[in-house]
Amino acid sequence: MKEVIIMRMRNPKYKDEVINSCDFLIKDEINFNNDNPIYIEIGMGKGNFILENALNNKNINYIGIEKYSSVAAVAIKKIKEYKLDNLKIIINDVSNLEELLKNKVDVIYLNFSDPWPKKRHAKRRLTHYNFLKLYDSFFKDKNTIIMKTDNDDLFSFSLDSLKEYGYKIEELSYDLHKEDIPNIETEYESKFSNMGITIKYLKAVK
Ligand code: SAH
Repeated sequence: MKEVIIMRMRNPKYKDEVINSCDFLIKDEINFNNDNPIYIEIGMGKGNFILENALNNKNINYIGIEKYSSVAAVAIKKIKEYKLDNLKIIINDVSNLEELLKNKVDVIYLNFSDPWPKKRHAKRRLTHYNFLKLYDSFFKDKNTIIMKTDNDDLFSFSLDSLKEYGYKIEELSYDLHKEDIPNIETEYESKFSNMGITIKYLKAVK
């Protein structure tokens, strides 16, 4: 028998109010009022990673992208406490952002992206050829993708896909927490790591 685990988040009570009153939500224009590099996380979830990065690196601008407003609202509520001018949020599917992000981005973070294990869903993986093509339009200059995952299959698919697309793998680990690489944990990362699952990591450049 097949076991199906459904993780669904209810709309938090405060969702609409939090989103409507958010002054760091990007709608149709990106403007940080400086020329600092822009790092984005595609699928930021509840936002711990991007928030801690923004707090630690004031000379880098961050954008957290999340397609589900119920999830993004949780992140926004947290981020609001800090009054940061180097962190903004986009609530949208990254597939819709070609125009908005064109030639703007320096680094893409993919943290614990949905693995889409079925072969017929391979096109939905965020390291599929079609997404790598989309990211080409986002990048300003050099392409840099930094990825972490618990999932062996997604990791090996991504390595192949990136290499085939012309990326060079600059850093690679099958057990990130054993390495001497500075690391900010995401929500999923803590969860999987506590379950004894090793964290896979790569940095790819083109
Ligand atoms: N990065 C977080 C969350 C990982 S779960 C962490 O590591 O804890 C993956 C997240 O990506 C989910 O919140 C999901 O809604 C979001 N996501 C998946 N596909 C997306 C897409 N195409 N565009 C934007 N967000 C996406």
